[in-house]
Amino acid sequence: MLRDWYKPKKPLKLLTRITKNSHPEKKYDAIVVGAGPAGASAAYFMAKQGLDVLLLERGSYPGSKNCGGASIIAEHTHKLFPNFWDEFECERIVTQQAYWLMTEDSILSSSFTSMKLASAPYNHFTVKRRNFYKWLCDKAVNEGTTLRFDHHVTEVILDSGQAIGIQLSAPHNIQLLADVIILADGANSLVGERSGLVPKVSPKDLALYVKETIALPAQAIEDRFNLPPGFGSLIGLIGYPTAGFNGTGSIHTFKESININVGMSVADFAKAGIRPYELLDRIKKHPLIKPLLAGGVTLEYGSSVIPEGGYNAMPELVHPGLLIIGDAASLVNGTHGFNLAMWSGYFAAQAAYQAKINRDFSKKTLSLYYTLLKESFVLQDLKANAKMADLQRNVPYLFDLYSRIANETAYHITKVYNMPKRAKRLFIFKKITSIQPLTKIFKDAWKVIKVIR
Ligand SMILES: Cc1cc2nc3c(=O)[nH]c(=O)nc-3n(C[C@H](O)[C@H](O)[C@H](O)COP(=O)(O)OP(=O)(O)OC[C@H]3O[C@@H](n4cnc5c(N)ncnc54)[C@H](O)[C@@H]3O)c2cc1C
Repeated sequence: MLRDWYKPKKPLKLLTRITKNSHPEKKYDAIVVGAGPAGASAAYFMAKQGLDVLLLERGSYPGSKNCGGASIIAEHTHKLFPNFWDEFECERIVTQQAYWLMTEDSILSSSFTSMKLASAPYNHFTVKRRNFYKWLCDKAVNEGTTLRFDHHVTEVILDSGQAIGIQLSAPHNIQLLADVIILADGANSLVGERSGLVPKVSPKDLALYVKETIALPAQAIEDRFNLPPGFGSLIGLIGYPTAGFNGTGSIHTFKESININVGMSVADFAKAGIRPYELLDRIKKHPLIKPLLAGGVTLEYGSSVIPEGGYNAMPELVHPGLLIIGDAASLVNGTHGFNLAMWSGYFAAQAAYQAKINRDFSKKTLSLYYTLLKESFVLQDLKANAKMADLQRNVPYLFDLYSRIANETAYHITKVYNMPKRAKRLFIFKKITSIQPLTKIFKDAWKVIKVIR
């Protein structure tokens, strides 16, 4: 089934005309499709500037289509919503970040902990997704946005290529009009695709993640992850979790629960013939992870996709009368998407406002959105990281093999052998090069350096 889905299809060219079901008596300044961080931020900033905004969400409450939690970058959020931590109750202030290189029976960790990260303006927070989505939606509504839940948009209405409104599915079955449409419907934008504005995302550019939220007492979390009360940890899991393919897992600590995520590209799932939940099970059964979860109760289980194609997989973001933001625009860097989503919402709001002032909703005026993105960390970081997706594709064994080599090296260094130190170093060298010849190690290292320099 995944293979069928894999086949690239040409985007469908649609020209939907206004029908008798439209509501032309009311025309909004802007309609935003999707009340995630991107859409809610765009709505908030447009409404704040006095635009008449309609925010449409298919779910029945904010974040109802998502599960678990995530981490947000304090600095990026603070610049948009100053001192947001006074208003929004985050789960934990992150003072510890770690990467665990894993094999089936060992973990080599690199971890940084500092209480310097524990005071304003902080570094990362963990947040419950639904609380964060709700907070952003409430802010948009407080500025005057009209927010409608259970409103599923099926496509954009185009008139001679100009976006002029949206079509709602049953039971509403109506068309609504606006000067500007902002697509913020998340990864794999089906609204964009159905409207012929976004090509079908290739499975190699889309990662599928499974995630589980497990309830544990706060004290147990703090004891098991060695955290002071109230503080949190973000742990990246590399190697074993993705069964020989390039992908990542993570553990996030919340007040009274932890999240485990794992995922890799949809194309790799198809190649591996492994089911997403099997990856999560492998991690939970790992001898060094299992004790961390002991006594925990599963609260939520879900899966979702992340656009991981990066800069080179971005669709065209500006169309006459329409802007694409957040995950729908493929604005994700690694697994960081909240910050890019909120900032793209902010930039789109600036462009929509300018277009309203000029009474000109052409692609040219709305291109301000792209200019602002380009001048910001959003596109600059994405561009800098553009080769990472290619590297992961071209060196498919990268994460798994080098996690194994790192663990093997650490094991032999740690283990006491009855031999002199010099002989032990030679012994370790031979062990490593029996896994991967030195020339190949250097070649791979050079490929990595070229990408990250
Ligand atoms: C497992 C996992 C872990 C992650 N962890 C992190 C993390 O720790 N930190 C981080 O920064 N990022 C993380 N991300 C990425 C982050 O979740 C996304 O980048 C971010 O949510 C993008 O925001 P968005 O508003 O563009 O899309 P979304 O959050 O997906 O919101 C889109 C909204 O649009 C709605 N919608 C969709 N279609 C329609 C329609 N047709 N009509 C009406 N509404 C519609 C959806 O219901 C949804 O509410 C993670 C992603 C995954 C999958």
